[in-house]
Amino acid sequence: MQGLMMETPLLISSIAEHARKNHGDREIVSVTADNPRHRYTFRECIGRAKQLANALAKLGLAHGDRIATLAWNDYRHLEAYYGISGSGFVCHTINPRLFPEQLTYIINHAEDRWILTDVMFVPLLEALGEHIANVEGFIVMTDEAHMPETSLNNVLCYETLIGAEAADFAWPEFDERSASALCYTSGTTGNPKGVLYDHRSTILHAYAAVAPDVMDLSSRDTVLPVVPLFHVNAWGIPYSTLMTGAKIVFPGPKMGDGEALFELLDSEDVTKALGVPTVWLALLQYTAQAGKRLDKLQQSLVGGAAVPRSMIEEFRDKHDVELRQGWGMTETSPLGACNSIKAGLEDLSPDERLDLATKAGRALFGCDMRIVDDEGVEVQWDGVEYGALQVRGPWVCSDYFKLDGAAGTHTGDGWFDTGDVATIDRNGYMAITDRTKDVIKSGGEWISSIELENVAMDHPAVGEAGVIGLPHPKWTERPLLVVVKAEGQDVTRDELLAWYGGKVADWCVPNDVIFLDELPHTATGKIKKIELRKQFADYQFPE
Ligand code: ADP
Repeated sequence: MQGLMMETPLLISSIAEHARKNHGDREIVSVTADNPRHRYTFRECIGRAKQLANALAKLGLAHGDRIATLAWNDYRHLEAYYGISGSGFVCHTINPRLFPEQLTYIINHAEDRWILTDVMFVPLLEALGEHIANVEGFIVMTDEAHMPETSLNNVLCYETLIGAEAADFAWPEFDERSASALCYTSGTTGNPKGVLYDHRSTILHAYAAVAPDVMDLSSRDTVLPVVPLFHVNAWGIPYSTLMTGAKIVFPGPKMGDGEALFELLDSEDVTKALGVPTVWLALLQYTAQAGKRLDKLQQSLVGGAAVPRSMIEEFRDKHDVELRQGWGMTETSPLGACNSIKAGLEDLSPDERLDLATKAGRALFGCDMRIVDDEGVEVQWDGVEYGALQVRGPWVCSDYFKLDGAAGTHTGDGWFDTGDVATIDRNGYMAITDRTKDVIKSGGEWISSIELENVAMDHPAVGEAGVIGLPHPKWTERPLLVVVKAEGQDVTRDELLAWYGGKVADWCVPNDVIFLDELPHTATGKIKKIELRKQFADYQFPE
């Protein structure tokens, strides 16, 4: 027997309508290239998204066609999210930090028909020239006064385009499984792969994201997403904020600037923020130098890479801010796990709490997890045994765009193999020990490069640390630590090696340390281990 509930499709446009009706006066504050503090309300945002939808309707596009965005975090980009997906088109967010060949590849692979771009990315598109000749036109997200001279063909001005349209638009109704957004993984190996989200997955993910043990988001919050709208939908922020009525503060191009972030957090009374560890490093450096304290911020969700213990400690002890670690990937929308205190663990000592906080977190309802050995057999949840982390659920990708299973990332029994190696303890806290391709295989044992990096990062003189496994005649592979010193700090090779004493097993201590001025990064700001390994291909460990 079927239940008797309405079959209302879960569509992104329904979040827009909810926000307009119930939180219309809530504010969105943006830093943009042409305005240091733009302010307007949810109501105005949705009105303008509808103006955009009216304009897009005249471009002769079909349901499911891809429209790309190449933009920072600000109000116009948010309007594009709703205007495009709400109309039944697919919002393909492009990461401007990708290399030209990757940009060309994904624009053509996605078959983007139009591209909405910030003024500052126009030169980037111009440089792609004939390689992206299939794109029909470009909408520059600014007003007439700031329109650039450009060699691009068929260029429209965003404000002029939407200014000519009405602010009412009847959002179309369609299957909730229709594609809504497309995001390519940065592709540390091979070509980037497209993850195609749908309306249903997006809404279910947003419901999960706002829960108390995840982002704990409500209409009383003000949120600063320092995670880019061009990567995994800024961890779902465009949806979770409008769903709850939380005020949004968009940093625009000021994403890596500690001082600018502090000013925004402080003056806009931000209660929750989201970012990757490197962003919070910049913020902590600024607050320490300037003698400032984060008085209003309560909680920050941090993920995308391992979070150093010292960072969690500094936020807690100096600023009374809870740094909540999350785990996820482009393929998981991204939230799959989040670290909050579970019943029964409230009495842990401050030190034990820190240890727990360095783990990636517990599975969200909706992202089932397991860890398996090489034979695909599940290993124990004892916090010690590790295995390949596999996940499944309604916001986990079932395949990549146009790859038809060729990526080989899914198991026969319906799980997605994340490429991460992890432990899960008996309380369900998962900890990432490595990427499968980064673990160091030393004498039949595995050494976690992440653990070694974390220990190095906790040294005050270390700005950034990367650990790679390199061939060793006796042990197969041994770890090499590559370090960028923190500004104005000094440390020697031997001091750093001694720093590992008592923190990791003796046989895990790196064999050598190399100091560099900078490390190679992927487009999402992670250390590019492949590049590092290439750089040190001819390196020989000291005897
Ligand atoms: P890309 O695939 O473009 O590099 P993703 O954001 O999809 O970017 O990266 C996902 C990966 O980031 C995960 O598979 C994992 O290796 C790493 N990661 C995410 N969160 C954490 C975390 N809390 N701790 C350690 N690694 C993490």
